[in-house]
Amino acid sequence: MTAHQYDYLFGPVPSRRLGVSLGVDLVPHKTCSLNCIYCECGRTTNLTIERKEYVPTETVLAELKTFLAPKPKLDYITFSGAGEPTLHSGIGEIVKFLKTNFPDYKIALLTNGTLFYQPKLIEEVKSIDLILPSLDAASDHIFRKLNRPFHKLKIETIIDGLVQLRKNFEGQMWLEVFIVPGLNDSDDEIMRLKSGIQRIKPDRVQLNTLDRPGTVAWVKPATKDSLKKIANQLDSQAEIIANFQQREQVASYNADVESTILQTIKRRPCTVEDLSSILGLHQNEINKYIETLLSRNMIRSEILERGVFFKSNK
Ligand code: SF4
Repeated sequence: MTAHQYDYLFGPVPSRRLGVSLGVDLVPHKTCSLNCIYCECGRTTNLTIERKEYVPTETVLAELKTFLAPKPKLDYITFSGAGEPTLHSGIGEIVKFLKTNFPDYKIALLTNGTLFYQPKLIEEVKSIDLILPSLDAASDHIFRKLNRPFHKLKIETIIDGLVQLRKNFEGQMWLEVFIVPGLNDSDDEIMRLKSGIQRIKPDRVQLNTLDRPGTVAWVKPATKDSLKKIANQLDSQAEIIANFQQREQVASYNADVESTILQTIKRRPCTVEDLSSILGLHQNEINKYIETLLSRNMIRSEILERGVFFKSNK
């Protein structure tokens, strides 16, 4: 089952951390409070901290109602996408709708974690089952270089917001730290991150690194050994979630979609956007297949003028 006939739902997509997850995309492509140098979705085109109804809440609710009516099997309904979902001012209403009408489904939120200094936002998301915020830096100058935030955002305020979030919601919090060698992997920055994490008290700390080209060409992935060292420095519980091995396949991975992607890029190299318009699937869904094909060495990527292109290895 796919949701590609919907405007704001995508998948269900296979996800390493969340199993079979139905994506809910609440903001237009690259509407975000950050412009991370490792972002796999390209440059942020609308850098903002303004919360508003970027897409019509009523339509999102109607799509969810239709999609969930036949009770599909899902591990999570996940707010995610190529932008920051908490910028949508209707997220609280959507969470409430799901909890009232479809209480059997668990809800997850993938967020850059920058807006929880607003108590109103915490109130809106506090019944979510699993929140996965990011925190890549603890000092302001690294934050600015790595995450290139909207100018008014300050890292101390963001960490304070995450502390408040953890105190005020009962679900799980898995904090993701994305390591960019040469920027946030120094002993000094890791120690600062460690003290920030000790204040926040997330349930899990997950380390990630680049596994395909981001928006800035010089950004390289961290090695497995350096991530292991950082995991030890941070906390013995920190897990490495970067994809150093072949990704696991989950039930919703569709072999037909995979072979169409392979056939298409065999004929000519394509970007994720190209594949999305050719196949009529959401970019986030295409991304999952691309990640799997890359991990199996079946395709490779190349940065050209128009963006990141994928080519067949066969
Ligand atoms: S927060 Fe996420 S969507 Fe926004 S720029 Fe960073 S990686 Fe991209």
